[in-house]
Order: sequence, then C-alpha cells, then structure tokens
Amino acid sequence: MGMVKGNCIKVKGLPAIRIRPHRALPEGRQLKALRLVMHGRILTVDLVYEEEQNILAPVDTVVGIDVGVHERMTFSDGKTVSRRVLDRSRETSLQQAISTKKKGSNRRRKAIATYAREKRRNTVRNRNECHQLTTAIVRNYQKIAIEKLAIQNMSRRGGNRKRGLNRSMMEQTWGILFQQLRYKAEWAGRQFVEVDPRNTSKTCSCCGEVRKEKLADYRTFVCLSCWHTEDRDLNAAKNIQERGWE
Ligand SMILES: [Zn+2]
Repeated sequence: MGMVKGNCIKVKGLPAIRIRPHRALPEGRQLKALRLVMHGRILTVDLVYEEEQNILAPVDTVVGIDVGVHERMTFSDGKTVSRRVLDRSRETSLQQAISTKKKGSNRRRKAIATYAREKRRNTVRNRNECHQLTTAIVRNYQKIAIEKLAIQNMSRRGGNRKRGLNRSMMEQTWGILFQQLRYKAEWAGRQFVEVDPRNTSKTCSCCGEVRKEKLADYRTFVCLSCWHTEDRDLNAAKNIQERGWE
C-alpha cells in the first residue's frame, strides 16, 4: 500500500510520484485503496479513502427504480430521469483519425494521446453525472429497490438492434449507478435492496397477473386480466418496489 504525503505518493518499489489533485485531499483519513492507471501517456492515480458515515434524517419514502435502454430511470412514484446522453462523436472521430496515421509515426502517437485524453474526460464526466443523480436519489428516498443488474435482460428488452459500443457504454453506466447507489445508501443510513429482475416488466402492478407471451417493444403495459394500462417502465418500477419492500 502506498502513502500520500503532501502532493507526493510513495508506493513500494516505485519512484515517488508527484500528483496534481483535482480536489483537496482529505487529511488524517485512512487510505483504503490506490490505483495507478496509464491513460495514453498520462498516469492517473485513484485514491479511495475510508468514508465517514453521514446518516441523513430519515424520510418516509419508498421507491422502486426501473432502468431502461432509453437511458432513463423511472421511479415508482412516477418521476423519471432522462440522463443526458454524452456526445461521443468527438471521441469517435479522434479514434478514427488514429487509423489514418502511419504506424510508429509521431503524428500517430499524438493522435493516440489526444484520443485517450478525450476518452478519459468523457469517463469522468459520466461518473460525475452519476454522482449527482445517485446523491439526489439517496437524499429523496428512505427505502430503495432496484433490479439485480441483469445486463442481458436489459438489452433484450430494447430489442437487439443496439449492440456493440453503444451497449457496452450503457452497461458500464448502469454498473456505476448501482454501485454508487449501494454505497451511498449505506453511508446515509438508507435501506437498499436488489430484487429478482424476472418478469418485472411483464407483471401487472395492479393484480399481479403475469403476461406469458413475449412483449413487443411498445411503451405501454396492458393487463389482459384486469385491463390495467400503464406506462411500461412505471409498471415495472412499481413491481420492483413491491418486490423489495412489501
Ligand atoms: Zn392486472
């Protein structure tokens, strides 16, 4: 394990590393983990500190959260969040630019560095957005239920059109979101569960009937038993809440 002294990190077996912190480093707190990553030619250092619990005043709210391929969260109380979709076009064109440069050339090396920097910037931006979102959720709700992250389940729901790059970025984001929710809920003294994701979008939140047939990718859920009709994601969010907290 390394040690942080001022703006310098000492890791056994490595020369001292000088760092430029993005924000003030906490003093006197126990360092929990240290990760060194090369992004192109830039070395980044992630420091994880032991966090002190910050118990929030309890509130009387329960929520189930459905996440969807529309990069959106739907809460069982009807609220929705459309996450701003990051513009990755610059990242993509920078990546393409690399292939037009001759291998081993200076231009290529520069292009790679520029691409790596842009990619890193987007990752940080994305993570910060997730932080804002998860902090708000934990502040607003006492009992939080989400689906156990079933990535294949999620992409199947959206049809099989969007595969590849798009899909992997989406998965990463859900992973980050759920991880942040988990630990923030714990520190804030909130309750957090992950529920079985099976049939949450096929079950009627009114009468509990499960629709057997495969659902098409329409946005409305209709129950063939009680004719309950509701936005598909909202119906799923209600089921998630019920599985978690009732
Ligand atoms: Zn029904």
